[in-house]
Order: sequence, then C-alpha cells, then structure tokens
Amino acid sequence: MNCNELSADVWNYCVQLDKEHQEQNNGKQMKFKDLQSAVKNYNDLSSKNIQMVFLKYFHSRKAMWLSIKAKHERSSTVKMPYKPKKFFNTMWDYQAIRIDYERGEIKLAKRQLGIGGYGKHQPPVRCYAKTLPQNIVEIELLYRRGLKLAIKYKEPDLIQSVGENVASIDLGEIHSITSIDNNGNAIIITGRKLRSIKRLRDKELGKLRSKRSKCTKGSNQYKKYSRAIYNLKYETDKKILDAVHKITKLYLDYCLNNQIGTVYYGDVDSATRSTKGRVKAHNGQKLSEWSHGLITLQLENKLNRYGIQMVKVKEYYTSQKCPLCGNLNKPTSRNYSCTCGYTQHRDIVGAINILNDNAGTSVERYESKMYLRIA
Ligand SMILES: [Zn+2]
Repeated sequence: MNCNELSADVWNYCVQLDKEHQEQNNGKQMKFKDLQSAVKNYNDLSSKNIQMVFLKYFHSRKAMWLSIKAKHERSSTVKMPYKPKKFFNTMWDYQAIRIDYERGEIKLAKRQLGIGGYGKHQPPVRCYAKTLPQNIVEIELLYRRGLKLAIKYKEPDLIQSVGENVASIDLGEIHSITSIDNNGNAIIITGRKLRSIKRLRDKELGKLRSKRSKCTKGSNQYKKYSRAIYNLKYETDKKILDAVHKITKLYLDYCLNNQIGTVYYGDVDSATRSTKGRVKAHNGQKLSEWSHGLITLQLENKLNRYGIQMVKVKEYYTSQKCPLCGNLNKPTSRNYSCTCGYTQHRDIVGAINILNDNAGTSVERYESKMYLRIA
C-alpha cells in the first residue's frame, strides 16, 4: 500500500498551495474553507483520508500561530511547515471504519477510482486483530518496522460502586507488587518475567554498543549497529509495556474481588533519590531503572477507572519494623524475623506496615495469600 506516500502528497500540496497564496496575497494565509475545497479529491485517497491530512495541516498551522502569539522563548524561530514529506501517516476517522467484532475484522475505506470521486468505491482494506477495543475513534497507518495500525479509542466509563476496604502495595524488584488488605488478603505478583526481559535487553545492548564502538562514527557498519540498537529498544520496550499491563491487570482483579476502594503505596521516588551517593552507582541505577514509575502509572490508570483511589505515602522503616512488637530488624534474606519470634515474608512485612501506618489498621499477618506470575 502506498497510502502514506499519497497522504504525504496531500500534505505537500497543502504546504505548496498555502505558500503560493501567501506570496500572492501579502503573506495572508489561505482560509480554512478555500484550502479544504482545494485539496478535496486531490488524489486517489478516499476523501476522508484527504480531509484528515488537511485537518492535521490546519491544526499545525494554528498551533504555530498560537505559539508565536504566546511569545515563547523560541517563538521567533517557529516556521511554517515547509519541508516536503515523503510519508505521512494515513488516518481514518470513525466514519471511514467498519468493525466486525465477532470476526475481529476492521474494514478501512479505500480510495475511489477516478479522480473527482465519482468513480466506483474500491472494496475496503480488511485487517484482522485478536482483540479490538470498543468505541474506536480513529485509526492511523504508521510505519514502525513494517506497517502497523494504531487504534485510538475512548475508554468507557466503568465506575461502579466502590468497595470500602483498604489495601497497601509494596513495590519491589523480585516481586513487582506485594499487597495486603485490611482483612488480611495478601497477593504477591512476581516480576521475574520483567526482570528477564530487562536482563536480556541490557546484555544484548551492551554487546551491540561495544561492537559499535569499534566502528568509525558515521560509517555504514556504525549505522547498522545504531539501527539494531534502536530496533532492540523498540521491541523490548513493547514487551516490557505488555508485561506491566498484565501485572497491573492482575492487581486490578484483586482489588475488585476484595472490594477495595483505597490503595496506599510507598513513595519510591524518595527512596531512589536518597540512595544516590550513599549506595554504589550500579546499585542506585538498578533501583531507578526499575519500572516502578511505569507500574504505578498504569495502576493509577486502571484503578481510577473503577473509582479506586491510589494514595502515595512516605515509607518509614516499612521494611524493617516488626508488625507485632514494633522493633526494628534488618531483614537479611527473603524472610523477615524478629527477636519476639515473629516471622514473615519480607515483602509482606513492608505491605503490612504501609497499611497500618496509613489506614489505622493493625494487621499482623495474612489470612490468605495468592502468588501470581504472568505468562
Ligand atoms: Zn517483633
């Protein structure tokens, strides 16, 4: 499909027309309607596709004027789009899309035969997907190592009756999420999969970088390695995001099953910051590199849709304090043990303390424990 080349043609035509108009009319730009009707049926793309490119152009023009008006620091350097594009993402809005949910099929309106739009419609392009979201607003054809469709959709409002229970989360490296609620229901979601993706990524990246460092900068071989690095990052980022989605989905299910309305979680930002300087560089990096930020962000997105609140709290010795007697002990292994005889899973101690410190509960141990991993 050469849709994206055709879309680029439309964009370039917009730029050209507007420029000519400005030259002939003392710098005045073409009006919305004039430009719209001028590009209509410009090429073989469907009129919807052309319209979307035109709207993009118009909006970017408007954004430029707003930016100049706002007198930003660099507003004097803001220019009209002028570079001719070779490719431009083709977009279909909801009117140009037909979806068959049962078959997982998307039909994208295709160009019309015969310039002027009077010709016959060509049969639509059919694409298939395993799962399709409801309320699709727009689909974009983009190039990321092959042609891909990006689907924009509206999230349905899902807020039901919110539970009254409270829970807390201890974010960790070995166990991504450890949580317990006021009834003692604990859940541990392991992050082993995430860690292995990352380890492999770092190993491969290291290899590629050292190979690249032996090449002359700018040489073909150098570029080849740069491309390989980019592709590796792109692929692993996708895998990491997918894993985080699965982890946070498991936690959402736990919240819904246990009627949880509020979740307290430790402020990891301050934890990572305070380790800098104190701990050896590679240790600090390990913590900050860890995708806690990504996990909390996706948790917030998912839980908030169900009306569940995420509350960020400060952690004070949450991994050391004994939930039974309050003494401080430094856990030396995965198991926590206190001089008073209390023993517990280390991450669960952290979660219990976050809960008791913030929700006014006095949970000492778990009643039930689920141990989950993602496939
Ligand atoms: Zn104790």
